[in-house]
Amino acid sequence: MARGPDFPALNPELVADIYRRYRPRGWTIRQSKYRRDHGGNGVADSGLRVLRVPLLIDVNDLHTLLHECGHVHRGHFLVNKPHHLEEHEAEMYALHVLWAEGVETPHLLVRVSRQIVKDAVEKDVLKDIPIDWRAQAWADKGIVAFWRHK
Ligand SMILES: [Zn+2]
Repeated sequence: MARGPDFPALNPELVADIYRRYRPRGWTIRQSKYRRDHGGNGVADSGLRVLRVPLLIDVNDLHTLLHECGHVHRGHFLVNKPHHLEEHEAEMYALHVLWAEGVETPHLLVRVSRQIVKDAVEKDVLKDIPIDWRAQAWADKGIVAFWRHK
């Protein structure tokens, strides 16, 4: 299964601090070493109000957590929006938090972010859903082959 790149481990205190301040109230976050080793992506279960994320070690894991938090904080489980718009909003949330908290975002991580939005844009294009220009602009600078396969 595809996952993003590995980056150096972050200071655990920094990770814990960001986790504590950005986790959505009323939601449970389940970290998983298995998810980190075999996939890396996060999932938000709105029925159970659980965010499933990789074990939080590096900036890629933190980015995954903040992306899922972004879906909750931007109200994506309360109103219906096109998939690509939700992915773009979740990505902007995640990157802005990382930047606001002074966490270095490697160029490759930014490329990952663009690719996530690009994939979502392409799916919505196939469904004839009008594409938000901001999401399109972010996606247009993406690349195709960055995923490292395990
Ligand atoms: Zn998402």
